[in-house]
Amino acid sequence: MDLFEYQARDLFEKHGVPVLAGAVATTPEEAESAAASMGGKVVVKAQVKVGGRGKAGGVKVAADAADAKVKAAAILGMDIKGHIVGKVMIAQAAAIEAEYYLAILLDRSNRTFLVMASVAGGMDIEHVAKETPEKLAKVPVNSIDGISKNMAEKIIRQAQFPEEIVAKVADVLVLLWKVFTSEDATLVEVNPLVKTADGRIVALDGKVTLDDNADFRHPDHAALEDHSATDPLEAAAKEKNLNYVKLDGSVGIIGNGAGLVMSTLDVVAYAGEKFGGVKPANFLDIGGGASAEVMADGLSIILGDKDVKSVFVNVFGGITSCDAVANGIVKALEILGDKATKPIVVRLDGNNVIEGRRILNEAAHPLIQQLETMDGAAARAAELAAK
Ligand code: GDP
Ligand code: MN
Repeated sequence: MDLFEYQARDLFEKHGVPVLAGAVATTPEEAESAAASMGGKVVVKAQVKVGGRGKAGGVKVAADAADAKVKAAAILGMDIKGHIVGKVMIAQAAAIEAEYYLAILLDRSNRTFLVMASVAGGMDIEHVAKETPEKLAKVPVNSIDGISKNMAEKIIRQAQFPEEIVAKVADVLVLLWKVFTSEDATLVEVNPLVKTADGRIVALDGKVTLDDNADFRHPDHAALEDHSATDPLEAAAKEKNLNYVKLDGSVGIIGNGAGLVMSTLDVVAYAGEKFGGVKPANFLDIGGGASAEVMADGLSIILGDKDVKSVFVNVFGGITSCDAVANGIVKALEILGDKATKPIVVRLDGNNVIEGRRILNEAAHPLIQQLETMDGAAARAAELAAK
């Protein structure tokens, strides 16, 4: 689970990482009163789980409480890379002298933890890594040894921080390791970590990803979940015990079994390249037992997605044979009636495929097109979505 910046700030504070005062507001009035209670200059920051808010206009300095209200009104409701801003954080403003970067993450490919530190903070770290890799120190961390003060100082020196702040930044790194381990995070990133005019080192922006596998150890983490972001269709699917995931393309995908569904996504994205970059809109795994009801539930969820222009049903008959699936599709369309409006491309293969295809052919439903191969069906679905 990715946290909002304000939640990361709260976790930092809990573990002693230096942060500035911060409060969440969902209306301009709340922003105003939060700013008033802080006094002086504040920064109004969009709370969206996406980077680059600053560049997108989602981080604005406000001179006083009245100005904070104006800035909050401008930022609330803003669309930042597809994320609608529903909350802002009012943060005490800092007089920034320098911006740095610090992160600890789980480095899956090297099976270790990794510290990344740079004096080129405040900007996109991927950019720093690409353009000036010498400015980004990457140091593996052994989970048994962790990060001692001594090791932290070595890392910070290696990243060429000015000598006079090495000890202070190292202290912050040790505290971030504490956040990382005691909260079971897979990412703790501070960008920027700043040096203020009065010489303090403060985490101004935080990004934290918690490891859901460790939720059982952290009953308090449940409260951090963001229910407002849950897609209504995802919620409806969950209720019906279907695995539905929303994506950003236009071909709805239904398949049976995670492996087949995953490869269907790839095949559709590949086929979609010929049609101006058509991509999957979502995917839904109907699992082993594709009964008529399950198929109807699945189709109604997929067809309920307004981004869906065509549907690709890709089923490999196994324990549930193709004739049962075909009957399921026919019955599902009967159940859905007028609610089914988008073309449905079906590819059946596997157990009892001849009978399955016969049933669909005989039904001759105007929305259904049958293709025999996965590639052919993917191309047709992409073509229909592109129309
Ligand atoms: P991001 O763009 O989503 O990473 O948002 P950040 O919280 O990192 O803010 C972007 C930039 O805004 C920072 O790199 C700072 O330069 C600036 N900024 C953020 N907070 C403050 C503040 O309190 N005072 C000043 N002067 N600038 C700030
Ligand atoms: Mn940032």
